[in-house]
Amino acid sequence: MLVMILSQSEAGWCLCFVPLVAVVVLVATLRKSKRRCPRCAEINPRHARFCAHCGTSLGR
Ligand SMILES: [Zn+2]
Repeated sequence: MLVMILSQSEAGWCLCFVPLVAVVVLVATLRKSKRRCPRCAEINPRHARFCAHCGTSLGR
């Protein structure tokens, strides 16, 4: 009986915790996948080598 209660509360804790982790990971991924242009501060995709707005080289 006690084990049942414990496992239920643990499951409830996990259900609250998992979406939180998912959101944090998603935000971190989105931040990593964008590059800000050093010249005009335009957001560019991570793979972009040049700024789509002003054409400045974004380096590596
Ligand atoms: Zn730019």
